Amino acid sequence: MSEQHQNLAIIGHVDHGKSTLVGRLLYETGSVPEHVIEQHREEAEEKGKGGFEFAYVMDNLAEERERGVTIDIAHQEFSTDTYDFTIVDCPGHRDFVKNMITGASQADNAVLVVAADDGVAPQTQEHVFLARTLGIDELIIGVNKMDIVDYEESTFDEVVEEVNQLLNQVQFQTDDASFIPISAFEGDNIAEASDNTPWYDGVTLLEALNNLPEPEPPTDAPLRLPIQDVYTISGIGTVPVGRIETGVMNTGDDVSFQPSDVGGEVKTIEMHHEEVPKAEPGDNVGFNVRGIGKDDIRRGDVCGPADDPPSVAETFQAQVVVMQHPSVITAGYTPVFHAHTAQVACTIESIDKKMDPASGEVAEENPDFIQSGDAAVVTIRPQKPLSIEPSSEIPELGSFAIRDMGQTIAAGKVLSVNEK
Ligand code: GDP
Repeated sequence: MSEQHQNLAIIGHVDHGKSTLVGRLLYETGSVPEHVIEQHREEAEEKGKGGFEFAYVMDNLAEERERGVTIDIAHQEFSTDTYDFTIVDCPGHRDFVKNMITGASQADNAVLVVAADDGVAPQTQEHVFLARTLGIDELIIGVNKMDIVDYEESTFDEVVEEVNQLLNQVQFQTDDASFIPISAFEGDNIAEASDNTPWYDGVTLLEALNNLPEPEPPTDAPLRLPIQDVYTISGIGTVPVGRIETGVMNTGDDVSFQPSDVGGEVKTIEMHHEEVPKAEPGDNVGFNVRGIGKDDIRRGDVCGPADDPPSVAETFQAQVVVMQHPSVITAGYTPVFHAHTAQVACTIESIDKKMDPASGEVAEENPDFIQSGDAAVVTIRPQKPLSIEPSSEIPELGSFAIRDMGQTIAAGKVLSVNEK
């Protein structure tokens, strides 16, 4: 095991090979249990297909998925020389995009999978856009299925060009992106440089993963712990659970839950079924607070220090980018906002400025409407109390997605919060 931890998102269009790549990464890093490989090796040999263990492991994963037993791709873990990686989301999940947003601050970096034979597809755009808005630091782009295009350099170059255009479009620093021609299925350029791509002299995927910058845990920021669920556990009492986004929680701390506006002293903190005196960013914890009952708090509350409680917005100003909306968005529109673990209907009270996405400058003051592709600064009024923070102060609690009609309409960052 390595010391440093990274949360990694695997993103990309459906069928471009995300699950296969995760399987390959687990396989190459020795993270598939030996007995599972051994079993597949025996089966493969019995069927006269020695050397096909990988395909068998993948078939097995697929089969388990179909039976619903699910060796879930999300939360799979593998280690390289530098990092312990956790895959934070599940490719193929119906709610992938939504999860990506609500759990977005969880991913430090991402691998974008683009099939060489298909190039940039609708979900490639959607995921890159979200990765950009939600502050993914670096993108590793795996141009996958190189085996299907006969490992042609020109095809690789075309896909690189296409993806670079997309990155420029959403103003993703292309310096922070590296492109690797891979075959998740055959294993080219994953753990070892492939003989099939003599024209490529860059890093392998595992090298690129090793070279990712170290995430800096936001321990200096005030405690912010969005509540995922609230349980009642006999012998302990009320146990809210969630993941610490920023700051540190110690037993004995005085905490406040917002917007429920209750608080008390932290009695116990539990992590991985063990009691701990202290928990840090990235830790999934259950904890118990003196005097708090099950009905006092709920999912969507944020726990913070009593003397620096989470902000509750009367209104907030935000920068949004409209991804896809069938018509136009005007003041008065009230879709559902997804921010950390909260889902709250919010009204777009005013559209203050339309921005030129290329230059970032103001293109129009107080426009009547915005539509797909537009970036704008808007003022938003939550219809129920919502805890949210300016992105400049606590980025982990400063982004959101706007959903309507079963899809993500827009995503945004909070510029300022007008507290109650
Ligand atoms: P996902 O929807 O992005 O998770 O895609 P999958 O991993 O399920 O892959 C979709 C299909 O593409 C499957 O039939 C895979 O076997 C196939 N596939 C994935 N990677 C490769 C590859 O590198 N080469 C080839 N030839 N097929 C691949």
